[in-house]
Amino acid sequence: MAVSPVDAAPAAASLKGLLPAELEALAVREGARSFAGRQLLTWMYGRTAASFEAMTDLPRALRVRLAAGYRLEEATVAAERRAADGTIKLLVALHDGARVETVIIPEDDRVTLCVSTQVGCARGCGFCATARMRLARNLAAAEIVEQVVLARRRAAVTNVVFMGMGEPLDNYENVRRAVLLLTAPSGFGLGSRHVTVSTVGIVPRIRQLATDRVPACLTLSLTAPDDDLRSRLMPVNRSWPIAEVLGALRDWADTTRRTPTLAYVLLKGVNDDLVRAGRLAALALKARAKVNLIPFNATLGFERPPEEVVTRFQEVLKRRGVIALIRRERGGEIAAACGQLATEAGRA
Ligand code: SF4
Repeated sequence: MAVSPVDAAPAAASLKGLLPAELEALAVREGARSFAGRQLLTWMYGRTAASFEAMTDLPRALRVRLAAGYRLEEATVAAERRAADGTIKLLVALHDGARVETVIIPEDDRVTLCVSTQVGCARGCGFCATARMRLARNLAAAEIVEQVVLARRRAAVTNVVFMGMGEPLDNYENVRRAVLLLTAPSGFGLGSRHVTVSTVGIVPRIRQLATDRVPACLTLSLTAPDDDLRSRLMPVNRSWPIAEVLGALRDWADTTRRTPTLAYVLLKGVNDDLVRAGRLAALALKARAKVNLIPFNATLGFERPPEEVVTRFQEVLKRRGVIALIRRERGGEIAAACGQLATEAGRA
């Protein structure tokens, strides 16, 4: 019997997103040895095979059974834009027609991929395009890792950050599975220091990341060092104010023995004054965190601070002994800010 050429039958069960032990059990259920589960993992993520037919070292009978009952493809690329700085933005179409975005960012000797975890987002941050879409649904773990597969067919991805559309910790279990697959040696094989989960500060889930020993770095999107401003910019702060979220961050750091990062989006005339730089420095020292400063690409009624303001802000942090890096938003001309491509496509 020939292997079906149609690997992505819509009614078929999802194969991506299964953890290594689950794939081994599946291989046994389908009449093969458990080792075939590991081979499957390598074919799907290490070699990003596009069909079961291509998995030539799997027993033929297993390939036939997999093609009949499972789908390999979780998403397709609906649109692709390339910026002059090398950034590639993919608009990824999921099986139900929903669309999310994935951004490939080459920088020096690394290639970082920014993946989405939800269709839309419920958190309503004032400076974010995705917030305007509202939350439609969570992505399955398979749909998260598929973004990495699609990106790997275009670039040698070295780092993955969960900073695209959606709040990762509002989709905890699928994000946890995706991290485990990214760091599985026979999966994507990334080191845990090359995978970063970013959150606006969902305190119970930050604590769960530590309890579950999820092998990833952690970034807190802070963006304001005082509760008053932060609650206005990021409604999540009304549930978990700064002191509470920094306490969870510090506990996470103690348990994992890792240094957390505070991301601070600099908005002209809103949070870029030197008093706030001093407050941010104090918080970073307390949380034993480093700081990424991200001058905002002007949109949604906000403006980017002038270069000298950004430099002065950074200097205040450095003088207090805080490691503070300026991260450039990349691919501005292809709408690389959070959620912009998907919202543009939605309008089209
Ligand atoms: S910044 Fe992140 S958490 Fe906030 S609304 Fe946008 S996607 Fe959601």
